[in-house]
Amino acid sequence: MDKIIYFRDDDLGITDKLLKEYLQIWIDTDTKVNLECIPARLEQSTIKLLNSLGYDHFEIHQHGVSHLEFDPWNEFPEHRDISAVEDSLDTGRRKLEQAFGEHFKPFFTPPWHNIHQKFLPSVYSRYKAISPFDIPIHIDMRIRDENGPRWKTLDELKKEYDRIKDLPAIGVLLHHYLYNNQEDLQILKEFLLFLKKERKFKFFSEL
Ligand SMILES: [Zn+2]
Repeated sequence: MDKIIYFRDDDLGITDKLLKEYLQIWIDTDTKVNLECIPARLEQSTIKLLNSLGYDHFEIHQHGVSHLEFDPWNEFPEHRDISAVEDSLDTGRRKLEQAFGEHFKPFFTPPWHNIHQKFLPSVYSRYKAISPFDIPIHIDMRIRDENGPRWKTLDELKKEYDRIKDLPAIGVLLHHYLYNNQEDLQILKEFLLFLKKERKFKFFSEL
């Protein structure tokens, strides 16, 4: 059986400066990325951009609703009301369905990977799976070292991949809006071309 890989890109919403170039990389390399969209931050221009590029390489999921901190680093802390959270989930999901139609698939990623367990039945009754709980992440494209956060080099990424290359499925996390130069985008492109020879790229809906 083919070994597989899936990329999860968080925080789709605003049309960041390099978003088009970033999305173009997935098209140029003929690979796939799962885009986790924040309903409250979704701009018309982002919808237009994706519609113009088509969806052969992109699948849209829901990343929280507002991405606001009701507790530090948590949109869904225990003190929130279940029915209020359910209403907001539904409002957010409707917005994504209207924007992306069939290209939106019901998968959920809580911001900061944080959600109180009391909300899990509400989430599981609405979405097919939650990343990272059901769809785990193994590699983060960024690292925090003594100079602060930065994108990993191609060499670092290949070494990290090498350590887990026996896994049948590997998940990779990235955040498109943190790309601010061509060099880092080039590393992404080269890493995708390297992985393409090793594994099949999958959308969450294909796992
Ligand atoms: Zn996020």
